[in-house]
This record gives sequence, C-alpha cells and structure tokens, in this order.
Amino acid sequence: MDLGLKGRWALVCAASKGLGRGCAEALVGEGVNVVITARGEADLQVTAEALRMLNAAAEVRAVAGDIATEAGRAAALAACPQVDILVNNAGGPPPGDFRDWGREQWLAAVEANMLAPIELMKATVDAMAERGFGRVVNITSGAVKAPIDTLGLSNGARSGLTGFVAGLARQPRLAGANVTINNLLPGAFDTDRLRSNFSAAAAKAGVPVDELAARRRAAIPAQRFGTAAEFGAVCAMLCSVHAGYLTGQNVLLDGGSYPGTF
Ligand code: NAP
Repeated sequence: MDLGLKGRWALVCAASKGLGRGCAEALVGEGVNVVITARGEADLQVTAEALRMLNAAAEVRAVAGDIATEAGRAAALAACPQVDILVNNAGGPPPGDFRDWGREQWLAAVEANMLAPIELMKATVDAMAERGFGRVVNITSGAVKAPIDTLGLSNGARSGLTGFVAGLARQPRLAGANVTINNLLPGAFDTDRLRSNFSAAAAKAGVPVDELAARRRAAIPAQRFGTAAEFGAVCAMLCSVHAGYLTGQNVLLDGGSYPGTF
C-alpha cells in the first residue's frame, strides 16, 4: 500500500537509535524527508548516513541537541522547512524508588516526557491545520496503561502527556483539518533502553541478565521482544494519508502483554 507520504517533511526526535530510529527508517523508506535529532553527534551522523543509503530520494538532516531543552527544540524546528509529521520521543527516565526522587528528578522527567512534546506540538499543529495535513505520533509507553512499579517517573510524566493529548487531539480546529495526534505505546522492544533497564533489574534481583531477559521474554504472549522496524512500520501507518480518521488514540504495541480486553 502506498502510504501517500512522498515528499512530506518529518521531524523525528531522539532518533539516532532504537524506536526513534525505527520510525525514521520507515518514513524515509516511504520517501519522507526527515530531520532527526539526538544529543550525541557521532551516532546521529552515522544514523543519518544509513538513512541516506536507504532512500536517495529522501533528504535527511541531522541536528544534534537535547530535545528536552528550548535550544534543542528550536534548532530541530529551524532545520525542518515545514513539519508535516512530528514524531515526539526522548530518552525515558531512570528506574528507581519514588522515595529516592526529589523535585529535580521529577522536573527532568516532566521536561523530557511531557513538556517537550507539548512544546513541539504547540510549535507545529496550527500550521499543519492551515495546510490541511498533519500527523503527530508521541512515543510513550505501555506503562501508561499498565504502570511499571520501578518506572514511576515514566508512569507519572507520560500519563500527564496522555491526558493532555486526549483533549488536544479532539479540538475541531485540528481534527477537522486532517491533523491527527496519537500516542504509540511500546511494550518491550529490543533496544539499548530495554537492555539497560534489564541490567539494572538483574543487578537488583541478583540474577544474571540473560536469565532475567529470558523470563521477561517468556512472559510476553508473542514470546519475543519487538523490533524497532516493527515499531517504525506502525508509526508510518499512523502517519499515512489513510489514517486521517484515527486520532486521539493510545495504540499499544506489546506482543499481547497487556492483559485487558479493552
Ligand atoms: P534507546 O534505544 O535508548 O534510544 C534513545 C534515543 O533517544 C537515542 O537516539 C538517544 O540518543 C536519544 N535521546 C535520548 N534522550 C534524548 C534527548 N533528551 N534529546 C534528544 N535525543 C535523546 O531508547 P528506546 O528503547 O528507543 O526508547 C525510546 C523511548 O521509548 C524512551 O522514552 C523509552 O523510555 C520508551 N520506551 C521504550 C521501551 C522499550 O522496550 N524499548 C518500552 C517502553 C517505553 P542520545 O543519547 O545521543 O541523545
């Protein structure tokens, strides 16, 4: 199926690795020009080069910076001639116990996983509406539907974003102008983030990391972790011209892990 996205411009945040990179790859594969960001310049440039090899017809720009800061967001936006597609993403907050977190840790989580995406939507969605096309995909977490005890910072900050998006996506001036805003909720995907969370959990439980990973894998109905390519493919589908009636949704991508009927 042609997703109808050739020649569009996308800003894909936090995309030198993992899920963000998977989204950038899928969009570039569809002929979308992309601006990708990450804090580390070296990895970002390597990813940009790989994306250019994927589809010579798509333009790829790389902007190093912290998307949780105003300067990082301004630089990313300045590099994108127009934002038709916005994929919001940032690193997840560290695991831990809420008894050990102070105001500083909470503010960092809220800046990265709630306010940064809100600021980027504020900067882009009205112009999308004027042009009659826009797609926003916020990478959040399955923890929004089923909280993960050790990821309290993530549970809290992302739930704030989710509540805000539920209202914004339903504004007639956006939904009525072919601007959709959805959240894509990863379960367990095989990325650096998952591996580092496993290392921390294995150390805490006093078990080898491979054993812990095997247990987690066995607990997923699909019996495996997801891949960044699978995640990117669903992101591109949500961005497609065919998905104009799908807005304000929380799309869970977790191999069947969430146990509820709805
Ligand atoms: P990852 O493999 O660690 O990749 C994170 C990417 O984001 C890297 O490119 C990183 O590059 C960039 N990044 C991190 N913080 C940034 C910032 N402040 N500004 C700009 N770029 C930043 O992580 P992932 O697994 O793809 O996870 C992506 C998001 O999904 C995270 O929020 C994570 O918590 C969430 N999530 C992941 C899973 C999973 O199973 N993988 C499950 C649920 C939720 P630099 O470090 O160079 O900046």
